[in-house]
Amino acid sequence: MSAQTPLGSSIPLRPTGSSTAQHFPRLFEPLELGRVTLPNRIIMGSMHLGLEEFDDGPARLAAFYRERAASGPALIITGGVSPNEAGRLTAKERPLTSEQDLARHRPITEAVHQAGGRIALQLLHAGRYAAHPGLVAPSPIQAPISPLTPRELTDADIERTIDDYAHAARLALQAGYDGVEIMGSEGYLINQFTAPVTNRRTDRWGGSLDNRLRFPTEIVRRVREACGEGFIIVTRVSMLDLVQGGSTVDEVIELARRVESAGTNLINTGIGWHEARVPTIAATVPRAAFAWVTKRLMGAISVPLIAANRINMPAEAEQVLEEGAAHLVSLARPFLADPEFVAKARAGTPWRINTCIACNQACLDHAFAGKPASCLVNPRAGRETELAIDPALTPRRIAVVGSGPAGLACATTAASRGHRVTLFEAAADLGGQLNLALKVPGKSEFRETLRYFTNRIHETETELRLGHRATPEDLADFDEVVIATGVTPRSPEIPGLDHPSVVSYVDVLRHGAAVGERVAILGAGGIGFDVADYLTDEHPAAPSDIGAFLAHWGVDPEQPDGFAATGPSPDVPRRSVIMLQRKDTKLGVGLGKTTGWIHRAELARRDVLMIPGAEYLSIDDAGLTVRAGEQVRTLEVDTIVLCTGQDPDRTLFDELAAAGREALLIGGAFIAGELDAKRAIEQGTKLGASL
Ligand code: NAP
Ligand code: SF4
Repeated sequence: MSAQTPLGSSIPLRPTGSSTAQHFPRLFEPLELGRVTLPNRIIMGSMHLGLEEFDDGPARLAAFYRERAASGPALIITGGVSPNEAGRLTAKERPLTSEQDLARHRPITEAVHQAGGRIALQLLHAGRYAAHPGLVAPSPIQAPISPLTPRELTDADIERTIDDYAHAARLALQAGYDGVEIMGSEGYLINQFTAPVTNRRTDRWGGSLDNRLRFPTEIVRRVREACGEGFIIVTRVSMLDLVQGGSTVDEVIELARRVESAGTNLINTGIGWHEARVPTIAATVPRAAFAWVTKRLMGAISVPLIAANRINMPAEAEQVLEEGAAHLVSLARPFLADPEFVAKARAGTPWRINTCIACNQACLDHAFAGKPASCLVNPRAGRETELAIDPALTPRRIAVVGSGPAGLACATTAASRGHRVTLFEAAADLGGQLNLALKVPGKSEFRETLRYFTNRIHETETELRLGHRATPEDLADFDEVVIATGVTPRSPEIPGLDHPSVVSYVDVLRHGAAVGERVAILGAGGIGFDVADYLTDEHPAAPSDIGAFLAHWGVDPEQPDGFAATGPSPDVPRRSVIMLQRKDTKLGVGLGKTTGWIHRAELARRDVLMIPGAEYLSIDDAGLTVRAGEQVRTLEVDTIVLCTGQDPDRTLFDELAAAGREALLIGGAFIAGELDAKRAIEQGTKLGASL
């Protein structure tokens, strides 16, 4: 395999020349911060892992943070912890309110310090976003994303809440934290005070700008008072609310000035409230798309500013600093994807980084579903104590057949443990279904996953046999055979299915089959939505044009509140598309919690017609005839794309079984239903770690 195989990744597959930290000089410049010196400009941003509530949570979190600290970020910020009962996100969250709570935090701070790192506790009061009956807010206004109405805080409640922040920060100091981050963005309590849309108070906490900014300013002042000068205070400021009636840029600058005067050391960037209907971290957002927001504050205040959102590789991070958009960068999900992110950047080997592809599937979608967070491309994340990848006691010869996500993960994990692994792939290129995914608008980041695994194959000395369909004879001499041959598209039984207008999603995405102007898509799972997106998107290429992205979602950097006066730029769909499914439910309900709304909004803007409860009657020259409810109608379409699920491809497995050979099945070849890259990589990694 060539060292320079062009995969379309944003970075070379392997070194093209010298590789030293000089590639990222600004990222690795130390920063004086009061009494401490940060060794570089990379902050590991806050991620709630969902382990915090478990009895063994402290040990698991300690292991998680220890690995990340060892790589050398300037500062780690934990997931949010409430300073009191009312501010908890959920009823099961443990707030930080007394010395009895310290025992759960000390293992974490000790682990980070032993690894040579620094860690700050994030203090997060959810306000009206809390999902329990005790929720409170400055005004009793229900959030559009919550079924609950908050109780209005009294003046005494507000004073007590500020004291709770200071008390929790003091406890954090006792627990060994190097600082706190005061979470003032994403629409949580502090935002609910600062923005007029959620603060209708007429007392000293509402109305004028002075009054609305009093709450965050007082919190910072009292935290500084409680914790002294050596303690790091980061304030996360919502620099762009992206909700109607949110703060203006002048108000944001004024808030930054006040928290600076009150004693904050750093100001971090928050973009968009949770209820905002503009994507801010999804894969459709170009890398570093919101650095301009932080840049608006550069020069207006003296404390260092941290840029955030979709900065997932060292090159983008360096560019943000080089363009003078911020003094530091914050990356959260990229540290789930690769604990060694900083070490690999420092060594000048960014091609070794397992890149966060911004899918949200195993991190935020889990968090919002109340499940522990992990990572699609790194299933060890959050499972450091249970998924060990140790050297094999007895190295063996292992064959893995199929180089989709399951096969790639299994082969490289097993080989990294010292097994001699041969990976067979019938196609001319690696990746299996990953090659389909990366064609979909907003999913080009999958190229980085392919680049990462290609390097792992090289690093682990996995023998690769591309373009070779493995036979039982090829597999005769191996100690263990793993079948990861994937899936074949399912063909439903419809009269006329052999009509030339019928193609499968593989024909479209992989083989570039011709598709007419009028299209019916049968099946509305993840792939049906992806194909609809692909066929209607005006610009189905990689999302890299920040200006076009902002205009598409109606964001205008020139406007005080960031909203374009003319709204989102109009869509010109490339085709007329109808999506159908047999179930009588709304289409797309099973899509990811944090990204499904983006898919549905995009397709609605492109006038994609959705038909549930369809019975497919026939296909002929007139089009597709269906019964939906009482009505039978013929949809006059040029092309019918089958996205009707998959069946396991077990041809080789069955041949081996017939010859009396045992083999292990993983990925789609094991179970095709509900298969996605998350489950495939997890299953492959676990098997590779256990062989
Ligand atoms: P899927 O989610 O199972 O959807 C299959 C679709 O085909 C369903 O809409 C189903 O709806 C229909 N169908 C199933 N059997 C059929 C039959 N015999 N005749 C006619 N229609 C039939 O599968 P997928 O869309 O192929 O996706 C595969 C996996 O990849 C899924 O787990 C999916 O979550 C994952 N994926 C995820 C994403 C993402 O963005 N997170 C993107 C792409 C894929 P009816 O039975 O109601 O007709
Ligand atoms: Fe990034 Fe996806 Fe992993 Fe989350 S699950 S950290 S978005 S790659």
